[in-house]
Amino acid sequence: MSSLLDRSIAFLKGVGEQRAKLLEQELGVKTFEDLLNHFPFRYEDRSAYQKVRDIPFAEGAVQLNGRITSVRLTGVGRAKRLEARFEDDSGSINLVWFKGVAWVQKSVKARQAYKLYGKAKKFGQTWNIPHPELSSLENSANELGWRGVYSSTEKLNDKGLHSKGLSKLAMTLVEQIGGQVPETLPISLRNQYRLMSREEAYKQIHQPTNMDMANKAVTRFKFEELFFLQLEMLQRKQLTFEKGKGFAFQKLDQYFTPFFENHLPFELTGAQKRVLKEIWSDVHGGKHMNRLLQGDVGSGKTLVAVMSALMAVDNDFQAAIMAPTEILATQHYEGVSELLKPLGLEVALLTGSTKKKEREVLHEKLRNGEIHLLIGTHALLEKVVQFKNLGLVVIDEQHRFGVAQRARMWKKNVLPPHVLIMTATPIPRTLAMTFYGDLEVSTIDELPPGRKPVTTVHRSEANRLRVFQFVKEEIEKGRQVYIVYPLIEESSTLDLNNLLDGYEAIQKVFPRPQYQVSMVHGKMKPAEKDFEMQRFVKGETQILVATTVIEVGVNVPNASLMIIENSERFGLSQLHQLRGRVGRGAEQSYCILMSSVKLSNDAKKRISTMVKTNDGFVIAEEDLKLRGPGDVMGTQQSGDLNLKLADLSRDAQLVALTRKEARALIERDSLLQAPENTQVREKLNVILRSKPNWGKIA
Ligand code: ADP
Ligand code: MG
Repeated sequence: MSSLLDRSIAFLKGVGEQRAKLLEQELGVKTFEDLLNHFPFRYEDRSAYQKVRDIPFAEGAVQLNGRITSVRLTGVGRAKRLEARFEDDSGSINLVWFKGVAWVQKSVKARQAYKLYGKAKKFGQTWNIPHPELSSLENSANELGWRGVYSSTEKLNDKGLHSKGLSKLAMTLVEQIGGQVPETLPISLRNQYRLMSREEAYKQIHQPTNMDMANKAVTRFKFEELFFLQLEMLQRKQLTFEKGKGFAFQKLDQYFTPFFENHLPFELTGAQKRVLKEIWSDVHGGKHMNRLLQGDVGSGKTLVAVMSALMAVDNDFQAAIMAPTEILATQHYEGVSELLKPLGLEVALLTGSTKKKEREVLHEKLRNGEIHLLIGTHALLEKVVQFKNLGLVVIDEQHRFGVAQRARMWKKNVLPPHVLIMTATPIPRTLAMTFYGDLEVSTIDELPPGRKPVTTVHRSEANRLRVFQFVKEEIEKGRQVYIVYPLIEESSTLDLNNLLDGYEAIQKVFPRPQYQVSMVHGKMKPAEKDFEMQRFVKGETQILVATTVIEVGVNVPNASLMIIENSERFGLSQLHQLRGRVGRGAEQSYCILMSSVKLSNDAKKRISTMVKTNDGFVIAEEDLKLRGPGDVMGTQQSGDLNLKLADLSRDAQLVALTRKEARALIERDSLLQAPENTQVREKLNVILRSKPNWGKIA
């Protein structure tokens, strides 16, 4: 690193000890380089003067060149204000100050020339400019151009380091950096994509010649951010699995093939076949598999998981499937046992509520290899759970498992078992590429045949009677109905009362014995919950009033209608997950989003997106735009991304491009030893050292 950029910010002209302390406290700016990296968030055009005459036609702020003819104080008490008359050769206009009057009065002099910058406002028929920025013409003659606008804080403001002050510091600094800024990108990439040098980019981002140059500077820094992020992910992937060695599965003849040929309950979809091929090519090739399988709700991921497990079992390895909740694990266990019955395999279930006795037997059978496939919750991760020969792990609904938990599974054998992570929350491509840069990604982008898209509508309280009428009609056709209430926090009594009130109201509108209503929520005892749930699953009740506990794990193909109460309180992907509970049978299904009439813009957008599309990927992209990557993926992980300029949703193309280039670079020069890659290696090492190594967490 160059010594100039490392220099303490206190040594920059115009800073000093006191301001340096503040800069560090408020903005984390300690060195010259830190200040260079405090980028403007937009620019103001100070490149030319407008005329007073043109003010009524100007959009935004104007810059004027003229003189102040008079200054006077008007009004009394709180209405006191300072007014000044400003003129140029085309006309004149009033300037007003409501705040800091005494200070302005001292510094603004009549009959002097000024450069003015401000936004004119119309009061009645006259225009004036409140709180303009004024500078005397002599010493600002050379400051024409685009000026960066910087974020600042109140404390910095008080010490004169508002946007303008920061801009001045940046300009001072930029003048000194010639020849002192090391390049971080390989010259070949800079040439190929016509990227500015780092030095030029710093100059142009702080003091651009024109907007085109400013944009080019921004692009260069975005490229740099994303490129190093991708390199970092690739590097972690290499570190995690030494040379990526894994068990090489050879055979498919004993279980996989007979199952595929004789026991499949239905034809695989094209997407399922493709994904199975991708998985086979991983596990067959002797490389360690670390693959993310994403597919919308109902796309048939379970079957892929089961058939991948058969690949392991065919090669004398054990397999495990891990689910995030007990309900889901149990449902998997029941479904999978049924499916594999003809093969005569030993399938077992392990959850938090497995009895101690049973558990001990199970542990023993895992150690001696009697159990072929273990299904369970994160109880699987406990140290006492030891396998004879674990070859493949499937993790369902990955977003609920941390990276650290993933790492723990790898310790269950001499070589890490192959890992397949499944998620029903489709992750936007750009996010998958970065957050899961250490994973290969497979996508099931096709639903099993015969599924009809769910018809979704938005209704308010005024439509309540018609909605209930519709419920009656569906029930008359023999269908079942979900009514979902928000229970954002399991402990919230307010939400619980909401649900109980709703339940009571529903029972009045749909009285026994003609109608049967069941209810489940998170506060019920598991046995009670299970009982109520089963009544609905078996078709004994027509209506299930529930909280979001039904989000995962319920499969009732006969349910054709879902009503979501207070839908404005749900997140977009949560709404999508919920809706995935209907539309599982052959019948046309419906989702009714109830909400109040007054909605925030975001809520409107969420609801209209749901009404418009059933496509989980479109919804995931929209969710990303509305919430930002931090919220979509969980803050902790997104904090690690540390992106200043690049935006994973808006800069999708750049994400893809930098990923391609990062891969190509590592392929050419995996240790970054070529002279032209020295700077890349150094910067990457700094990044890697500054963050915990996810792969090594155990
Ligand atoms: P998810 O991807 O949400 O986990 P599931 O694996 O639970 O989806 O599958 C949803 C439903 O679709 C299940 O009832 C399953 O039996 C069925 N299914 C899976 N694959 C196919 C297929 N190829 N053809 C028809 N139905 C399928
Ligand atoms: Mg599933």
